[in-house]
Amino acid sequence: MNKGENGEISPDFVAQLAGFLGFDEGRVQHLFEKNYLARNWEKHDYLFRFDKEVSRIERGTVLYEKGDTFEVIMGFPKIRRAMVLDPTIKKHFSRLEKVAVEEKMNGYNVRVANVKGNILAITRSGYVCPYTTERANVKLNLKFFDDFPELVLYGEMVGPDNPYVPKEIYGIESVEFYIFDIREKNTGKPLPTSKRREMMEKYGFLQVRAFGEIPLETAPEEIADIIRELGKTEHEGVVIKDPDMVLPPLKYTSSQSNCSDLRHAFRFYNEAGRDYMLSRIVREGFQTVEWDEDETDFEKRCIQLGESILNPLRDSIRIVKNGQRLYEEVRIRVKDPKTATEFENYLKRLGVDAIFETPQPIGNEYMINIKKVNKSTNDKTQAIWEGELW
Ligand code: ATP
Ligand code: MG
Repeated sequence: MNKGENGEISPDFVAQLAGFLGFDEGRVQHLFEKNYLARNWEKHDYLFRFDKEVSRIERGTVLYEKGDTFEVIMGFPKIRRAMVLDPTIKKHFSRLEKVAVEEKMNGYNVRVANVKGNILAITRSGYVCPYTTERANVKLNLKFFDDFPELVLYGEMVGPDNPYVPKEIYGIESVEFYIFDIREKNTGKPLPTSKRREMMEKYGFLQVRAFGEIPLETAPEEIADIIRELGKTEHEGVVIKDPDMVLPPLKYTSSQSNCSDLRHAFRFYNEAGRDYMLSRIVREGFQTVEWDEDETDFEKRCIQLGESILNPLRDSIRIVKNGQRLYEEVRIRVKDPKTATEFENYLKRLGVDAIFETPQPIGNEYMINIKKVNKSTNDKTQAIWEGELW
């Protein structure tokens, strides 16, 4: 048995879990050995997370013992991307008359649920993030979780006091949780969009903006207009949903958001994934052709795309040439300084190299600046300046 994260997992436990999942015991044993099924740590070590998609169990799914069985919080399913709006939307949603269009907000994905009496915030990968958990407990109307212990809230944590995806574009002072989905525990079954909105309104939760239900026939054009508007303020894009949440949703994003992703990716060019970079460039190609842009607009797009790639590259290469280190500055705001310490340990465990500065009081909370060191891009750039070959 694996001696690492999974510690001692008794044969009894494996048998019980195998029974619950409908897998044979050898398979469960194998999942543990490969760490595809792994324990969270310390006070959350009763929580297991799937680190890989296994037989239609989403990656990031977590489960734990409850009574004489288990309870499951399903991972958030990946949303497929439309590369062109027409005919993709009509084809994907062909049996519907209308689609629900919502803003896709740019932050990080969080699930919040009542886990054996505690309200926990779980990341996409199935970790319990101490910072997000504190924020959820401070910001959310916790009565919801008493009233509906069987439901899981899915939302985007958005705003500048954000250690993963800080954004100023929403006019949020610190950080807020915007709900975009409610699902049942165990089955992962989502609520229809209107039911979800009604329920969230009742409890006073923030929700992602709704552009309403749009007839399928006119959806591609109407969404193109929405995207152009959102792009003006660098907002990311939309998620297009079946109002009954039976068909899987699609996403589509603005050029400005693609470029903003590219600026970040090329600043830390040796950390960023190549697929991530390439796909954002290819999207620009499809968008300009689908929107039938004239030479003036095309040239604007070329300049924006080129600058999004070369400006951050030039900055990074210069910084290292001048003997400085590259890092990304983020910040968090906590009620209890202990949360910052827990978060620091948490990032360390995840292998993130981060320097936490001294907490500064702000109102009745504390602000902590964090420098995330991008070792790989630093080292690569330095080596090139020392004459090494690519
Ligand atoms: P990739 O970028 O490689 O496609 P990803 O799964 O991280 O991977 P995103 O492009 O970030 O995908 O899009 C999906 C994410 O969008 C969801 O995980 C969710 O956090 C976020 N999101 C923001 N607003 C919404 C919304 N209204 N409905 C659904 N998801 C939303
Ligand atoms: Mg995202």
